[in-house]
Amino acid sequence: MHGGPTTEGREEGTRIMRPGALSVFRTTNRCLSEEEVKGVTAMNSSLIGKIEKARRYAAEPERAEIRSLHVRFRGDHDVYDVRFEGGTWTCTCHSFEALGVGTCSHIMALERLLGPLTPHPAGQIEQTV
Ligand SMILES: [Zn+2]
Repeated sequence: MHGGPTTEGREEGTRIMRPGALSVFRTTNRCLSEEEVKGVTAMNSSLIGKIEKARRYAAEPERAEIRSLHVRFRGDHDVYDVRFEGGTWTCTCHSFEALGVGTCSHIMALERLLGPLTPHPAGQIEQTV
């Protein structure tokens, strides 16, 4: 067994690759059929198209809207569960309850982390008629 590059033309008549056949696919001891090669090529060009589309989408964050979210947040003293559900932020920390303003340092930190993807509480969405 040695996996070095094959020397072309040395094995006379034993393995003649047809023009256009892809020797790179010979990893399974056989050549892919033409149909299989076409399938792989089509899949690759399709995937490349999806990657290009994803790049364009990612530059337009307004396309994505977080509807629900659960983040486990490690604070200085304890671990908290921050959630966004039904248009409302909640956090299991004491400050969230004590402050009574619907936010806390964990939620505010997440807003910074999420940037343009930060979901806004339902009450804050401006309805334009
Ligand atoms: Zn909190």
